[in-house]
Parts: sequence; structure tokens; C-alpha cells
Amino acid sequence: MTFDDLGLSPKVLQAIADAGYTTPTPIQEQAIPYVLMGRDVLGSAQTGTGKTAGFTLPMIDILASGRARARMPRSLILEPTRELAAQVAENFEIYGKHNKLSMALLVGGSSFADQEKRLDRGVDVLIATPGRLLDLIERGKILLADTKILVIDEADRMLDMGFIPDVERIVGRLPKIRQTLFFSATMPPEIRRLADAFLMNPKEIAVSSLTTPAETVVQSLVRASALPKDKRATLRALIDREPVTSALIFCNRKRDVGILYRSLKRHGYSVAELHGDMAQPVRTSTLKSFKDGEVELLVCSDVAARGLDIPKVSHVFNFDVPVHAEDYIHRIGRTGRAGRSGLAFTLTTSLDGKQLAAVTKLIGRRIDEVTLDGPQATRPAAESPAADKQPAVHAEDRAERTPRRTRRGAAKRTNGEAVTGHDTKSRDTKSRDTKPREPKGRREAKPDTTPSRPTKSFGDHTPAFMLREVKLAASA
Ligand code: AMP
Repeated sequence: MTFDDLGLSPKVLQAIADAGYTTPTPIQEQAIPYVLMGRDVLGSAQTGTGKTAGFTLPMIDILASGRARARMPRSLILEPTRELAAQVAENFEIYGKHNKLSMALLVGGSSFADQEKRLDRGVDVLIATPGRLLDLIERGKILLADTKILVIDEADRMLDMGFIPDVERIVGRLPKIRQTLFFSATMPPEIRRLADAFLMNPKEIAVSSLTTPAETVVQSLVRASALPKDKRATLRALIDREPVTSALIFCNRKRDVGILYRSLKRHGYSVAELHGDMAQPVRTSTLKSFKDGEVELLVCSDVAARGLDIPKVSHVFNFDVPVHAEDYIHRIGRTGRAGRSGLAFTLTTSLDGKQLAAVTKLIGRRIDEVTLDGPQATRPAAESPAADKQPAVHAEDRAERTPRRTRRGAAKRTNGEAVTGHDTKSRDTKSRDTKPREPKGRREAKPDTTPSRPTKSFGDHTPAFMLREVKLAASA
């Protein structure tokens, strides 16, 4: 199927071609014709599936005829975070470039004066986070009586963030006769109940189960001490040995985001932080620096990073095992995007057995373990038949890599190469090969079922620089 078969207008098709898309993704293929027909849609889809274009493209065509009245938006898109709202706005700009639609973005933490002027002139599309929108509705600044299309995006995240009562109040202000598009990565009973309340005879679309992490992401587990200082040292050792070009590091708590950020900065890494308590302009500029490759590492919370579309993230590090197992899938889904390969490492301590068990249950397999207590990382052989299916980072590949020096004072690297004087570039390229490779050489090694075993060496010789690296990493 091509985009031409979906019933979109020539202007939108032109914008799609300009964006370089040739084939609709499954959610686009299934949702667009129904949205164009005016049907309600209930979509189970996670970010990275192309769902944003799945609703923005047909909306542009539906809104192409008609005019907006002052303070009465014609359509409303609710997003759980400011970053997601901004991302949807970017999508509208890209896909609506040949149409003359007006748009306003209403998110907490940024000045409202500009957006208010826009609303006064009338907007076709209002993209908002629930709290800010409700505030303005209640002050009589916005009327939703003319809003004929409603999109509720990332509904399960809205639930996690406690936004559902706000969403219900907002929806109560919309006309009963409207078109509603409702998307959620997961469909727990509360979300189903909401969908039943908000949607009329919806077309249900499910594109991929949330329990399936992207196949392009190689997942590994690293045992670490529960002592924060030692855990940070383990993370640094891991970062140093990996061919990181751009990495997200997730912490469960905002406070820990700050602590880890400051620690990495002190150790000379090119790093920034992102969490929900930061002022919006700082969040926006931080994200831009990260997207532009000006900073290499971004320490963040789940709220700030959910759904972010940054195509070149080479690694995701879970500094903490997430509290909600679903977040594991979302986090690791920030890498391995758009067909690229990605690497995801999860640090686990003696304290998070339950959380790890929940992740294991959700994804239906144990995550391959690597150890960092020796010069090279290695992993036990597959522990379950299911594990065999997973592409793995093999000990041999790792052994060939040159660990990076701790980058004291090296604020920015330009091309992602390590600074050891070795030919790391070719190795890095090799290690990011998308294809799962068969282990070589050590294939015959007996399976080891102990959760963490001492690292075996790869021959008699341990290069001195590797030993130095481990020592450095241990001094938090
Ligand atoms: P989303 O799931 O909406 O966050 O989209 C994920 C990424 O896929 C974004 O970078 C989009 O620009 C990209 N994308 C959306 N639709 C297509 C398509 N049909 N072909 C290629 N890339 C797409």
C-alpha cells in the first residue's frame, strides 16, 4: 500500500513526499481512512509506530475547509507532557506546510501571551497539556463548544500522571457530537473505561503489543551495588566501554536525575539533565542541545522522556530498573528507532528484584547479563530458550572494543569516537551492526546459570589501559 491509496489530499501527499516517507506505517494504513471517514478511533500503539502522522495527516485534510473563530479551537489534541505536545506541533508544521492551518501550543511553564494572541485570532488546532488548558478554560479564555475533533494521546501516561480527572473535565466541555481519536500504548481497565465513555462505535486498531520491545534493540543487564556511589561508578565504567554517541540515562526519581547529572558532569562527561520540575525554556533548550549532538548524555526522568523522537540515540542506560514495567519498553524504545540498531543496559541492584521480575514477566524473557567486574564484559550463555531469540552483545565483540577514557574536561566529542588512539571507529561501527551475530570462538563454553559470575579473560594478556580504566571508574 502507498500513501496515494489512503484518500489524502494532494497537498498532504506532497508534504509526505517532502518529508521523505514512501510507505505508510501499519497504524497509518489502518487509521487514516477511518479518520477521514469521520469515525472514532481507538488505537493501541506506542510511540515510534508513526501514530502522530496517523492522526495529524487526516486531521489536516478534515480541517482544510472551514474557519476558526476567536478562542474557539476547531480541534484539540491532549498530550501528557510539554515535549510530546511540542513534537506534535512540529508534526503539524511539517505535514501542514502546504495548508494554511493555524495552530496554538498550550503547555505549562511557558509564557502564554503569544499563544493567547493566536487563540484570539482563532486556531484550527490546539495542542495542549491538560492542566494548562483547564486553567484557561476555567478563566473563560477558551471555549470548546466548537471543537469537533478531539485527540487524546498517550492516555495510559495521562493516567500514570494523575491527569485523568482533568481530562474528564475537559472532555465534558466539548460538544457531544464530535470525532474522537484515542491512543494508548497499553489498555488497562481504567483506560478501557475512559475509551468507552469518550468514544462512539470506534474503529479499534492495535499495531504492536507493548510487551514487544523493538527488535533492533539489544538488551543487557548489569549487576551493580545498591550503594549510590558505587552504582554511579558502574555506570561510568559501562559508558566508557561502550561506543556511545548519544545516550539517554533514566532514573526513577527527579532527585536522582539531578544527583547523577552533577556526578557525571564532575567526572567530565558531556551531559545534561531533563525532568519535569525544570522550567520549560530550559527543557526545550536542553532537548535541542541533545538532539543536535551538542551534549552526549541526557540524564532524565520517565515523564520528561516519554515518547521523545530522537532518531540517533545509540544507547539507553536504565540507571534504575523502572517502577512500572511498561516504562522499560518505553525507555529502551528511545533507541533502535527508524530501523537503526540500539543498545539498552539496565543496572540492577539487590534492592530491585521485584521490579526486575515484573520487567522479565512483561517481556517474557530474561535479559542477558553482562558483567563489568573485570576488564571485559561477558554474559552467561542463554538462560532460557526464549533468550536465544534475542540479538546479543557478545563477549567477543566487547573484547575487541577499546574502552574510552573517562573524559575529564572533554565537554564535547565531535564524532563519537573514543580518544584512546586506537582505531575505535571501525570497531564502533561493527558493534552497532544491526544483525544479530552468532557467538564465535567461545560458543562451546558451558552455560553458566549463576546470576553474576566473575569475568573470564580473553587470553593471557590484559592491556594495561583496560586495568587503568577500571580503577578510575571505581573512584566515585
Ligand atoms: P511517532 O510514532 O509518531 O512518534 O513517529 C515516529 C517516527 O517515525 C517519527 O520520526 C516520524 O517522523 C517517522 N515516521 C512517521 N511516519 C513515517 C513513514 N510513513 N515513513 C517513515 N517514517 C515515518
